[in-house]
Amino acid sequence: MSDQDLPKSLDEIRAKFPYQFEGESIGMSVPKGWAPGFARLCADIDAALGENKHGFHWIQLKEKFGSARFYYAFGRRRASVHLDIVAGDGVRTFVAPQAQKPGEDEFNRVSQAVDKLVSDATAKTRHACLVCGAHGDGHLSEGYLMVLCPAHQATRESKDGWPEDLWDMLEEDRIKVKDMYAKVEAMRRQPEESKKNGVDGGDQ
Ligand SMILES: [Zn+2]
Repeated sequence: MSDQDLPKSLDEIRAKFPYQFEGESIGMSVPKGWAPGFARLCADIDAALGENKHGFHWIQLKEKFGSARFYYAFGRRRASVHLDIVAGDGVRTFVAPQAQKPGEDEFNRVSQAVDKLVSDATAKTRHACLVCGAHGDGHLSEGYLMVLCPAHQATRESKDGWPEDLWDMLEEDRIKVKDMYAKVEAMRRQPEESKKNGVDGGDQ
């Protein structure tokens, strides 16, 4: 699938590959900037699986320690196990691949291919801005590590910083990044007094 045919939001990804979102899950959240990489991952997994989907589905998608965590299963088989080690110089993630099943060569081949796709996609999120997807690095602030491009890092460090509901906005698929910025800008421009008095800034 070419990049331009890829779904653009989590809702579109779900609609394109519904089987990947069937079954039990414990939370699906993909920040805006990582949605294109996740869409590519879902398409590549779809191709690697071929006709037999082996019950592949996502269990949990989230951000943790400055990179994505994409947890999945094949039917009732849990896939690889992730172990995060927090050291002084950052976080190391170890992945213990799923045990191979004797006599199931085709499944073993497919599950190894999926493991590789997921670990490559995860590695890319370590250098993709959460907000816009541009190249960035992990920045620690107030004890929270976020991957941000230089522009968004500057926003984070500016006097006003992020609005408190940034995470809600990032995780709401339907709000485009452009709209998010309009909202952030509107909140910043709104003078303190009018906030206190509950006066609407008027440019929503
Ligand atoms: Zn950015």
